[in-house]
Amino acid sequence: MNETKKYSYGASEVKRCYFCGSKLIPLYKTYRKVYFASGHQIRLAHMIYKCSNENCLKKGFKYKCLSLDKLAPKGIRYSYKILLEIYVLYLQGKTREDIEYILNERGIDINSKTVFNLKNKYNQFISYKYDDLKTSLSKIYQTYKDIKLSFDFSWFSTYAHLIIRDGFVGDVIEFKFFKDFNQKQVADFIDSIFKLNIKISEIRICPELFFICKEIEKYTDIKPFVFPENNESTFKKIVEK
Ligand SMILES: [Zn+2]
Repeated sequence: MNETKKYSYGASEVKRCYFCGSKLIPLYKTYRKVYFASGHQIRLAHMIYKCSNENCLKKGFKYKCLSLDKLAPKGIRYSYKILLEIYVLYLQGKTREDIEYILNERGIDINSKTVFNLKNKYNQFISYKYDDLKTSLSKIYQTYKDIKLSFDFSWFSTYAHLIIRDGFVGDVIEFKFFKDFNQKQVADFIDSIFKLNIKISEIRICPELFFICKEIEKYTDIKPFVFPENNESTFKKIVEK
């Protein structure tokens, strides 16, 4: 049997209304500054769109560009990667002052009070109880008659997280935290989603995850992105490798 591996690499912006297919028009733009783990600080635009069809069934529905949400949680100026790092440094016994120093050394403007708050925030993310994936996927399908997902992955030391979002409006449906993570664990988890046998039409994965998947294939027998055959035709935008 021929095994086909398909990946979607990077993010794409929403262009058409998911309910009626009409063109989306920009509604407003907001800006946020985000700090990255490298110490870079970037000002990013966050676009909100609406459907151009006056008679659209879902008139008033707001679409957003997912890129910014994928980098940093709402209302927070630091990327998910920095939050993970802070959390792990705490687990390793560093004080908030130590962490402030470590991050400042890398050019990240942060104080010990913010470090403390972000550690708590991250703890909330990982302990939040989401619906089980099957339920979340059914809900997405009921709304859009389709399922698109977006996967984001970060790691630091032996810890990692995988964030799964509904690809339409970017709501987080799973925040999976890995201790002592290895590539197989990540692959197995992703595989378990496909084993639910629910038709998913599109998956976007971040570059970090893409490279992990390439590594997994190189060194093991695990094929994390082998999609069920009957679903193949529905994987529209996915790039064949
Ligand atoms: Zn519409």
